[in-house]
Parts: sequence; C-alpha cells; structure tokens
Amino acid sequence: MKVSSVELLAPAGNLEKLKFAINYGADAVYCGYKQFGLRSRAGNLGKDEYIEALRFTHKAKRKLYLTLNSYLFDKEIDEFVDFLKFLNNYPPDAVLVSDLGVLSLVNEFTEIPIHISTQANITNSYAANFLKKFRVERVVLARELTLEDIRRFKKSVNLELEAFVHGAMCMAYSGRCFLSAYLTGRSANAGDCAQSCRWRYTVIEEKRPSEPMEVEEHPEGTFIFNSCDMCALPILNELIDAGVSSFKIEGRMKSVYYVAITTAVYRDAIDTILNGKDFEEKIDFYMSELKKVSHRPYSLGFYKGEPKQYLKSSGYIRNCKFKGVILGREGDFYRVGIRNRFEPGEYEIFSLGLDVRRVVIDEMYDEEFNKKSYGNPNEIVYIRIPEKVEKFSLIRRCDESNSR
Ligand code: SF4
Repeated sequence: MKVSSVELLAPAGNLEKLKFAINYGADAVYCGYKQFGLRSRAGNLGKDEYIEALRFTHKAKRKLYLTLNSYLFDKEIDEFVDFLKFLNNYPPDAVLVSDLGVLSLVNEFTEIPIHISTQANITNSYAANFLKKFRVERVVLARELTLEDIRRFKKSVNLELEAFVHGAMCMAYSGRCFLSAYLTGRSANAGDCAQSCRWRYTVIEEKRPSEPMEVEEHPEGTFIFNSCDMCALPILNELIDAGVSSFKIEGRMKSVYYVAITTAVYRDAIDTILNGKDFEEKIDFYMSELKKVSHRPYSLGFYKGEPKQYLKSSGYIRNCKFKGVILGREGDFYRVGIRNRFEPGEYEIFSLGLDVRRVVIDEMYDEEFNKKSYGNPNEIVYIRIPEKVEKFSLIRRCDESNSR
C-alpha cells in the first residue's frame, strides 16, 4: 500500500517537553490537564499553560491532543462539564477518552474530535465500529495486538488507527492493573502507577513468614512481571503498511532528552520510509541513538508475537548522561541550561536532523562571566563551541561500551 503521510505523535508532559517535541519534528503532541488526564505525576498543564501550549502548537502548524482518559466518578461530573465548557473556548485538535461516561459528556457538551485511548483496550473492529457512532475519529490500538491483528482490524474499520511504537509496557492490559494501587495506594487507573510490577518478588510459605524464598528465574533475580520496553522502530515500515496512520511515543513522565531523541529518530525514520529511501540501511544508526536514552532492553512488544520480560533488574539502562541544553547564542558564547553536573571536557552534541557531533568544551563561565570549573543542575553557564549549533541542541556524555 502506498502511503503519503502518517503522523508522529510525541509525549508532552509539560510545556518545555512540548516545545522540544515540536522542535524535534513531532506532527502532534499529547498532553494532560491538571485534572482528568492520566499520568498524574507527569506535570501536566494548568489553565494558562494549556492555553500557551495550544498557541505554541498551532503557531507551529502542529496538533495538540488532550488526554481525558481517566475514569470519572459521579461526584466529578459537574466539574468536568465546566471544564468541557472551558475547552469549547480553547478546543484541542482532539481529546483522548477511555471512559464511556466521558465519551458521552464530550459528545453532549462539545464538538471536539474524539480519539479512544489505549486505556479502553480496543482489540477488535466491532468495538471500534461501535464507537464510531459516537463521533469517534480515531482509535489508539491496544498494545496487545499483533501486526497481523492490525492488518485484519484495518480491513473492517474506516477509522484512523494510532499505535504505540516506543516506550514502557505493562505486564497487565495497558494500565488496567491494581498491583500498584494495592501495594502503595497509587492507582494506575488514575495515572499514578508506582511500577510495582518491576519490583523483585519472593515467595513466603504461610507458616514460615520470616523465611522468604527466591523464585530462581534468573541468577540475578526474579523480576517475573518486569516487561521489556517497546521499540517498534525496526518494523515501522510494516506498521505503516498495515494501516497505522499515527505513531505514538510513550513517556509523558520522561525527560526532555528522551522526548527530543525519540522524536528526532522516529521523525527521520518516517520521512525515510515515506520518501522511498533505504530505511533498512539506517536502522542500526537509529537503534544506536534510541539506546542512548534511558530504557529497559527493547522488544517489539506484541507486534511479532509474545513480548519479552527483563529478568536481570528492575532498573533502567543508562548509556548517556544528559548534561544540558543549548538555550541560545550570545556573541561568541552559547548559553547552556545545565541538567546534570557539567564541567569542561569532551561531549556529544545532538541537534535537529539527527546531527551528532563530538566537541571539546575548554572553559565555562557563569552569568557574570566569571570562569567556573563546573556547574550544577538548573544553573546557566556560557561556553564556547568551535562549530555552530542550534538552540534546543542537547549536550551529553556517553559510555559506548555500555550500549546494549
Ligand atoms: S504496576 Fe506495572 S503492570 Fe501494573 S499498571 Fe503499573 S506498570 Fe502497568
């Protein structure tokens, strides 16, 4: 099937991440409001920030989708209706919904296009076609579908299909899990998962509570619920061919560094495929960049069969340390916002268009132009770089030997 355009959809946990996503090539961003959107710890946007996000996104001629995918209780309905009336004055390009009550209220009080969230776990075309009667324009496919399932699904459904291509996976049906709520009081269904599935578990025999026993799945531990992260980049061309028209990167709680790198890589990959260039030839480079963001080992999720578990640890693999962001140029100097302790030395600079350069930074200065030997997170420093780099470029230091 010849496809001329698809959408790259990036996470925007806050205004800063939204600007990075757009700068690095997202066609659309998704973000949450302070109430009613999952990912309660992602930052999310208050009223003024939301209006600013919408203005910024539309000025860049991109789209903003607002997540309204938590499950509503009757006591919240009046407040929600007031919120919908506010949205009518500042309509996003679509809202993401999972609760049928929210779907009904959005229909009743607005004309905003509706996308059905992955949280609704749409796995078959009958569910999608049923939802179409309620002004639904797009379905975010359940992550549990295979590539073949998607092909079959698309043949029976005349709706836009959105699919996750990158990010963390649940061992439960996408967030429909009470493990975290039960163990910590933080509910995944309210966007506040503590990722309890990643923890290390033992078995305790009823009569010997002081003798926990290891379930020896692997010499380094037992992380039986700890899913690998999804990275569908190697099969992006197959997903386009199967009829997916929007490709979603997970991670509203991740850093601007994660948002920038993943968006830049998937942007280039989509353009390469649609322009008929040699995608296969570039996969190794794309993957090497995706391994430079914090991640668990990658898998294709369910797309090519069973997903994989990460057995060795509940932690992340971190091959690169994100040091700072280029905020702009002043004379011979670049202004840098520091994210992790930063001192003169050798670094990589990652810029728009997957441009990666190694540079040596000899000296740094504070805002009064006093020389500094190092800077701490959230400080602003000035550096000289022998080459021209763009605003929004990222400074990092990577340990190549650690790449997996
Ligand atoms: S505890 Fe794990 S499986 Fe459950 S919602 Fe959280 S990430 Fe998903």
